[in-house]
This record gives sequence, C-alpha cells and structure tokens, in this order.
Amino acid sequence: MKVWIGRDVFEDLLEQARTLAPLETGGVLMGWRRGGDRIVMGTIGPGPKALHGRHMFLPDHAWQVARINEAFAASGGDLDYLGDWHTHPESEAELSGLDRRTLQKLGRKIADSLMLIAAPAGGWHANAWTQPRGRLFHPAPAERCELAVFDVPSDWPRLISTPRA
Ligand SMILES: [Zn+2]
Repeated sequence: MKVWIGRDVFEDLLEQARTLAPLETGGVLMGWRRGGDRIVMGTIGPGPKALHGRHMFLPDHAWQVARINEAFAASGGDLDYLGDWHTHPESEAELSGLDRRTLQKLGRKIADSLMLIAAPAGGWHANAWTQPRGRLFHPAPAERCELAVFDVPSDWPRLISTPRA
C-alpha cells in the first residue's frame, strides 16, 4: 500500500510530535481511499483528555470520534478515517509489540487501517504500516507502507481545520 501525505499535513504532524516530546502524542489520519492508495489530507489531534506519558499515549477517543464525525459531515462524506498515528520520542519509528496488537485489533474493525509512527532519531521522520485482512485465527503480519509526501494542489478540498484539543 502507498500512503500519500500532504506536505503541510505531515509538517504539522511532526510539529505536534516535537512540541510534546519527550512525551508521546498522536491522533487520527483523515483522507481518501483510492484503490490500494491512501491520501492523508488532515489529522485530528489527541484531544483534551488524552494521556501523554514517556512510554504511553492514550487518546481522548470520545473527543476524536466527535471530530471525525464533524470532518465527515463538513466534507459531505468525502473524508474517511484512515487510521491513527503516534510518536515514539525515545525510540524508533517502528512498531512495538503493543502497536502490532493494537493494529491487529483495529484491522479487524476497519479493513486496511493505517498506523503511522514518528520518531526523532536523525530528525523527526515517520513510517507507516497497514494490517492486511487475515484468516480467522491466523492474523496476517503488519505490512510496511511506502510513505510519499506530496504538495497538495491548492484547489483540492481540505480538512477545514486541524483540531488538536
Ligand atoms: Zn507505539
């Protein structure tokens, strides 16, 4: 799977990561599904009741769901929930064991969900994975996505705001 992410969306995400470090943060990826491609057009933040630790992050799920529904309605049903992102301020942009289990659970609810992880080593950067559909009792391993940052054409519809909290 190839994940396209708007340059300003990506820079904003990394700015959020830098701002909260050394605490973890994260949010929701919103955008479009086009066949095997995902186009990330905006993020939704952690929410006011999110818990940020040095080695844990728990988003304010109720707040995020409300913002997802608003973005969906404001876009006339065009913008989809694509997955989640979070940071590893003191580690690598790789899936932890817990991340793999979380992605498997997410993938059971929403097929081909994304998980993007940002980390600071060598300059803040990110990697993304998707959870392919497995067979019953045989979950498939997470698959690394190709991540491509692109300049969003000015006439494309946008997620009107990037709510954070
Ligand atoms: Zn993680």
